[in-house]
Amino acid sequence: MASIFTKIIQGEIPCYKVAETDDFLAFLDINPNAKGHTLCIPKKEVDKIMDLDEETYIGLMRFARTVGIAIEKTIPCNRVGMTVIGLEVPHVHVHLIPLNSMEDARFLSKETLSKDDFEAVAKAINSNLE
Ligand code: AMP
Repeated sequence: MASIFTKIIQGEIPCYKVAETDDFLAFLDINPNAKGHTLCIPKKEVDKIMDLDEETYIGLMRFARTVGIAIEKTIPCNRVGMTVIGLEVPHVHVHLIPLNSMEDARFLSKETLSKDDFEAVAKAINSNLE
């Protein structure tokens, strides 16, 4: 069965899109640790990051760097952290999280955003992509 992220890629499930290439997609995490929390995924559906072929792995990191730089320009924060977990969704994804403290990296306290907030943040990050 297709992963929830493949359904997002295919447009069956909506997302707040931040960036897209032929091979990768970035969209806002629906239950963010912090405003601007973004997921970067390969369009190729693979469960575990270490199972990616080298080209896709390096491409994903390059894509995440581009998105992370745009997040840093958009969201005031100490830095953008990068985390890979994957225990919930079996489709490789890199979390990019604006960090001000260790709490923001712990996936315990969550930020509540309205639809308008999500749309505005996704648009703002997208406009800072280079
Ligand atoms: P993990 O697999 O543990 O790295 O966590 C999966 C992440 O995907 C969580 O932070 C979820 O909030 C996020 N997530 C799950 N479903 C969606 C969705 N439909 N749109 C955006 N983010 C999602």
